[in-house]
Amino acid sequence: MSRSVLVTGGNRGIGLAIARSLAGAGDQVAVTYRSGEPPAELAGLGILAVKCDITDPEQVERAYKEIEEAHGPVQVLVANAGVTRDQLLLRMSEEDFTSVVDTNLTGTFRVVKRASRGMLRSRTGRIVLISSVVGLLGSAGQANYAASKAGLVGFARSIARELGSRGITCNVVAPGFVDTDMTRALSDEQRDAIMGQVPLGRYADAGEIASAVRFLASDEAAYITGAVIPVDGGLGMGH
Ligand code: NDP
Repeated sequence: MSRSVLVTGGNRGIGLAIARSLAGAGDQVAVTYRSGEPPAELAGLGILAVKCDITDPEQVERAYKEIEEAHGPVQVLVANAGVTRDQLLLRMSEEDFTSVVDTNLTGTFRVVKRASRGMLRSRTGRIVLISSVVGLLGSAGQANYAASKAGLVGFARSIARELGSRGITCNVVAPGFVDTDMTRALSDEQRDAIMGQVPLGRYADAGEIASAVRFLASDEAAYITGAVIPVDGGLGMGH
């Protein structure tokens, strides 16, 4: 059956791969994008693109209304939108820290809270949060990002406990290094250093993250909740 799916930050990178994968499996998919124009391929795939900055609660509310009118209440939420603002601790400003937490953690809270309304009513739902290997391993220069991504784990496990009795699951996917704009910003030196730590010796393709998300969103994963699934080429060794 075709479900109403929302992927935040689905206009590029990992989010776009997830949106493609779920749309390909027959779901009615909506994505949010924050800036610019969404890629033309979305319309061809029947994916609805809704403008929304997840740091703004009013934009989140507007986006949900638009999606609900088009596809009905969101049954599968993939909270994927995220940012980095790397800096060593001594040079990290308050704004560097709070802006990353506001997008990655509080932004996720905003979209999950709003989605939970419809899910509670229908007594079913799938929530998947995109964290990072860095959330549990730590990463020099990414204290803000790692804190926000670690926060998602406690958040997801609390939601799993709160909403489990209503048939709603909440899980975390923790990707390692994935070939997207986010990692293309790294220097060759940084890339080489990372590769030296990854047992599989390569970056992930965004589609490989999408495969794990699609599984967690599927009926086959009905008894999995509160889990953190690493998709990291062995970098975190399952944490
Ligand atoms: P990209 O930088 O390629 O894309 C980030 C996405 O998030 C874009 O769609 C962007 O929208 C959106 N976004 C950022 N801020 C906001 C906001 N305030 N409101 C709404 N949307 C926003 O990143 P990736 O695809 O690489 O990453 C996706 C997720 O996966 C992130 O949460 C990231 O932390 C995580 N991740 C990525 C890894 C990697 O190696 N790439 C590894 C581990 C985790 P816009 O295009 O408008 O800017």
